Amino acid sequence: MIKKGIAILGSTGSIGTQALEVISNYPELFSLEVITAGKNAKLLIEQALQFQPNSVVISEESLYDEVCNALKDHPIHVYTGEDALCQVVESTQVNVVLTALVGFAGLKPTLRAINAGKDIALANKETLVVAGELVTQAAQEKGVNIYPVDSEHSAIFQCIVGEFHNKIEKIYLTASGGPFRGWSRDQLINVQREQALKHPNWSMGAKITIDSATLMNKGLEVIEAKWLFNLKPEQIDVIVHPQSIIHSIVQFEDGSMKAQMGLPDMKLPIQFALTYPSRLKTDFQRFNFLDYPQLSFEKPNVEVFTNLSLAFQAMETGGTAACVLNAANEITVAAFLEKKIGFLDIAAINQKTMNLISSKNNPNLNDYIAFDKEARNVASSLIL
Ligand code: NDP
Repeated sequence: MIKKGIAILGSTGSIGTQALEVISNYPELFSLEVITAGKNAKLLIEQALQFQPNSVVISEESLYDEVCNALKDHPIHVYTGEDALCQVVESTQVNVVLTALVGFAGLKPTLRAINAGKDIALANKETLVVAGELVTQAAQEKGVNIYPVDSEHSAIFQCIVGEFHNKIEKIYLTASGGPFRGWSRDQLINVQREQALKHPNWSMGAKITIDSATLMNKGLEVIEAKWLFNLKPEQIDVIVHPQSIIHSIVQFEDGSMKAQMGLPDMKLPIQFALTYPSRLKTDFQRFNFLDYPQLSFEKPNVEVFTNLSLAFQAMETGGTAACVLNAANEITVAAFLEKKIGFLDIAAINQKTMNLISSKNNPNLNDYIAFDKEARNVASSLIL
């Protein structure tokens, strides 16, 4: 493999730190060129001192001086602000941009990276949820590959390697069901932040952990899959699989199904996105069938976890509908984390916001930005 120059947007997060672990295992294959953080200056500085990238970005401008001072004796460029995030991905030394920011903030830098011809390792699913049409079109025009990092989409990708000429009949995205699988609406009324932050199988950032508990994460993944694999809504199904061993399934036109399985560990999909088409030897823990005598499957309860239905609805509607849903959800999840609303209010306010904003077809980037802003305002106004 030729040495790849890597930029990690969101290096201080759950995906970002695991990506750094992967990269540090293969110094002969990767050169870390760019790392970026939102507010965690301390960790960004530590990472910069360890990996000596060409550039770092601290998005929070008030922390710029702190990062500059800490790195002043090193040949590392330090930048701050939203524009810097968009500029660093264009560096000639960067071949692949791992987008591990959380939320809508990932959209602009991802588009800039695509337009600069950089391959994308995509963790930031919100980018495709918000503007899948625009992003996939830009990638096609520029001949840029988008490699999925999300474990379910990596699973689908791994199942279709060598099958690109064969049509997909259907995919099944697996869902753990989250910490409240089997709970009734009455039981969910008093759910506390701390309970929702305890995912049974995965350790992740706060936003995606809450999204997993409400099943919004699975809804976002459904929309992400539509764009990544060019599928129609009726070709995408969700099946709850509490053990999180089968990461997703592809059903081909002859009825054959392929599943990708293994112990839950995000380092594997991160690594595959960075090394495709090669599989590199790892010491990740191996799956033992006898530890899991039963793998089980059940239907998601969309009456209780209504966010999943909202996502299907937004996908069917198209245009800016999913952008609105995503923006509302970013506001409601933040409000839940700040203990301003209850668990069930998340989906209720998401739904009301969607009902209040009609969708626009064939949106451009400015439309997405405007609809995102409007949806944030509407959702915020619905939080008492
Ligand atoms: P985290 O919250 O752990 O990390 C987010 C990263 O983005 C941090 O580096 C954070 O910086 C940075 N960041 C957040 N907001 C901004 C902003 N407005 N501007 C600039 N930087 C920002 O998230 P995760 O790593 O869990 O998730 C990242 C993405 O990957 C999400 O889209 C998620 O859905 C997806 N994903 C995550 C999985 C996981 O296992 N964690 C699995 C599959 C997908 P700082 O902390 O310094 O403020």
